[in-house]
Amino acid sequence: MNKVELLAPAGDLKRLKTAVNFGADAVYLGGKSYSLRARASNFQRQDIIDAVNYAHAHHKKVFVTINMIFHEEDLEGLRAYLIDLDEIGVDAIIVASYYVVKLALEVTQSMEIHLSTQLSATNAHALTFYKKLGADRVVLARECSLVDVQQINAKQILPTEVFIHGGMCANISGRCTLSNYMTYRDANRGGCAQSCRWKYEVYDQDQQKFKETATLFSMSSKDLNATPILKELLEAKVASLKIEGRMKSEYYLATVVSAYRMLIDKMNTMNHADLVEQVNHELSKAEGRETFTGFYERVPDAGGHLYEANGAGVMQVFLGVVLGFDAQTSMATMQVRNHFDVGTTIEIFGPKHENFTADVTTIIDSEGEIVQRVYKPMEIIQIKLPFSVDAGDFIRKVNA
Ligand code: SF4
Repeated sequence: MNKVELLAPAGDLKRLKTAVNFGADAVYLGGKSYSLRARASNFQRQDIIDAVNYAHAHHKKVFVTINMIFHEEDLEGLRAYLIDLDEIGVDAIIVASYYVVKLALEVTQSMEIHLSTQLSATNAHALTFYKKLGADRVVLARECSLVDVQQINAKQILPTEVFIHGGMCANISGRCTLSNYMTYRDANRGGCAQSCRWKYEVYDQDQQKFKETATLFSMSSKDLNATPILKELLEAKVASLKIEGRMKSEYYLATVVSAYRMLIDKMNTMNHADLVEQVNHELSKAEGRETFTGFYERVPDAGGHLYEANGAGVMQVFLGVVLGFDAQTSMATMQVRNHFDVGTTIEIFGPKHENFTADVTTIIDSEGEIVQRVYKPMEIIQIKLPFSVDAGDFIRKVNA
């Protein structure tokens, strides 16, 4: 099998470091302009420099998305931006406009050009065309089946990248104007308001439908989870496995990236069914919607939709981040994210060790007082632990 790249999203520098530390081979991010996640906490110029420096110091790559659909008014400053990204040392740009490809080929020296899933590449002929255009990689459409991926890759035209986890559009990616219609926010210029996930009353002419259901109607898709067919994607020799979610939390990233890292790394060393079950147990600890395998196994039917719910369940299991550990006192310093008490069973997970569990026996708050409970987000506290932990480890509640 090939050495596949695990590609993670990052909404800011902190999340980029989390993705790198927890096992991503490359991270993609958006600058303040030209990206499809205008509302993510995107990167300023200095953040991109810091991101590239951090990633390269860890032998990882940074890709920058420039994947909006450009109108005339959006083009100002694009040339200078491309030159700047190239000089900063960004490894690749992800683009959805032929003009951006042309311009990048003219003005940049070393950045690769990856074509975004927004271009809906679903067949090998499209890749042949994109190769002639000058692309180095193509992100296949999320609407590709596993057979499509296998057949496209068998022709070895260009390296391909496929989505493996995260949100899906109810409409064909990049062909949706729901948000434009409902909110005047253009989904293809970074403004998607996730209108498909709102709750609606449904009418046929003047007749209201589905009145008997307990909740209103949503068009939301379930999220993608490709763990059941990841082995086949690797055998198809995809170059990169992409996790969706530049708006997601650092806890979500740490959990999902480390779970897929385990799946890739242990693919040939343990029973496959057991491994997939273990990985999904880990994934279930991240907040998220119900999942399915997207278009990989079949064209989604009603089972791929969340008709009566829209929610990405926000879980309260993420308790905080370890900042340090004093071996003399066995006290870990941590920054709190969610409330917990003495007696809470916690699990500590990090990139350098197996997961540990322990019961909280002692909490010292930021005033130096022994307390029974912490509840202030971002408070720096100390807890006693029966084992050594590392700065950057994450702490979550067990059986929340
Ligand atoms: S409204 Fe929904 S289907 Fe449309 S672009 Fe946004 S997430 Fe995708």
